Amino acid sequence: MKYTPPKILVVDENPQARQLIGDDLRTHSYSVLEAANAQEALELIPQEKPDLVTLDIDLPDMDGFTLCRTLSEPEYAQHYTGKPSGHLPVIIITDNDTLEVRNRGFEIGAADFLTKPFYEGEVLKAVNKIIRPNKRLIGLTALVVDDSNMARRICSQLLRREGLTVFECSDGVEAFSFMQEMHEKIDMVVTDLKMPNMEGDELCQKLRQELHLTDLPIIFLTAVSDHKLLIQMFAMGATDYIVKPFVKEELIARLKVHLERAQLTRNLKRIIGSLKRANDEIRTLSITDTLTGCYNRNYMETQLKREIRTAFRYRRNLSILMCDIDHFKSVNDRYGHTAGDEVLKAFTQRILEGIRLDIDWVVRFGGEEFLVVLPETNLEDATTIAERLRKRVAESPIDLPGASLSITASFGGTGFTHQQTDPPVTITNLLNTADKLLYESKNNGRNRVSIAPLASSHPPS
Ligand code: GH3
Ligand code: MG
Ligand code: MG
Repeated sequence: MKYTPPKILVVDENPQARQLIGDDLRTHSYSVLEAANAQEALELIPQEKPDLVTLDIDLPDMDGFTLCRTLSEPEYAQHYTGKPSGHLPVIIITDNDTLEVRNRGFEIGAADFLTKPFYEGEVLKAVNKIIRPNKRLIGLTALVVDDSNMARRICSQLLRREGLTVFECSDGVEAFSFMQEMHEKIDMVVTDLKMPNMEGDELCQKLRQELHLTDLPIIFLTAVSDHKLLIQMFAMGATDYIVKPFVKEELIARLKVHLERAQLTRNLKRIIGSLKRANDEIRTLSITDTLTGCYNRNYMETQLKREIRTAFRYRRNLSILMCDIDHFKSVNDRYGHTAGDEVLKAFTQRILEGIRLDIDWVVRFGGEEFLVVLPETNLEDATTIAERLRKRVAESPIDLPGASLSITASFGGTGFTHQQTDPPVTITNLLNTADKLLYESKNNGRNRVSIAPLASSHPPS
């Protein structure tokens, strides 16, 4: 009887998603049909009688769950797909992966559940699991290393028959240089122990240590069953061993176990990696001001406390500067809010260029008000820095579309030494003192710097 490849119907509104899923399946001998919505799917199924459906639940014309329920009903499958088994498996693919959605999916009969974006081979694997349950190794790649041509061929043939793509090397040296180039494509290594040039255990150790392939299954085929040798093999990083001559079924069964475990680990690492990246991003977002890239007040609260503690512990000074752009409202009024935003960014740039980026830091305190924190800086140096920043702002006009705009800013600064006890060093005292001095600068005509020692926010009554 002529072999007809299993038919998969891919239902997804997005043509790129259909293509991505389809390409993966076609290269592994599936015949693929596509539908862009539920209506198309319902028309195609009775004509084409697919063996499995992948279904994005966000469809333009029907709730994907309703479609999934219909397809999973035995009566439907019997009637429309001609399957006496009465079952048309559905794999749900979604970018809305919540426990609730999953539960709902399984409740109404979905066979599996994948989340977008899926990684290469993920859909194929899920389809294989259902359509070719005994051929789980399809699509995977192995390297077989053995100096005996005969032994190597037998092993490779076996694996190929299970659907694996197999590469062959005849000793450890050749295998190691092959893996240097190809390790990203190899899912497992099956190696002989005793070989000329480089033996299996040395190869294994080099793969683990030099190429850092800690999760790669490395299975030894060995004629010896000497305990000392076997223990040494594991010490060099072997995953498992099979004694030659081996029973075919045992080899395949063991490989499946190790491969599935390795794939789980790999997926887990991928997920952990993307979670970590998402976490880093969230952290960055939660402590920065999106317009200027400066820190926000959230960050200031914790970080300034830390800076104060550090200053006392190491007997250092610390100063802060509060600065505010002069007459900024008129910039908005004359040039518009967008231009105003550009001015804020350019102002920040000028401040950042005038401080030590590895030690000092800047917080966007309010609309056009910024706080510069200067660790290890006394009041005299803080005055010099503030003057430098003031000048820099005043002397570098900002380019706006159709205009070159000169702005100025006013500064108020204060600080403490590690001997400071009265008034006590608190964030409130620091900020209030700097704020008062900033308004002194404003009242005295703007574009100036006022610096003074720390004052109490609660003067004694
Ligand atoms: P002064 O010299 O006394 O500081 O006068 P000013 O006009 O700078 O101060 P005022 O507090 O009266 O106005 C601040 C303006 O800053 C008002 C507000 O619309 C503007 N502003 C606050 N945040 C933003 C922002 O994110 N983007 C823009 N474009 N404008 C902002
Ligand atoms: Mg202002
Ligand atoms: Mg202001």
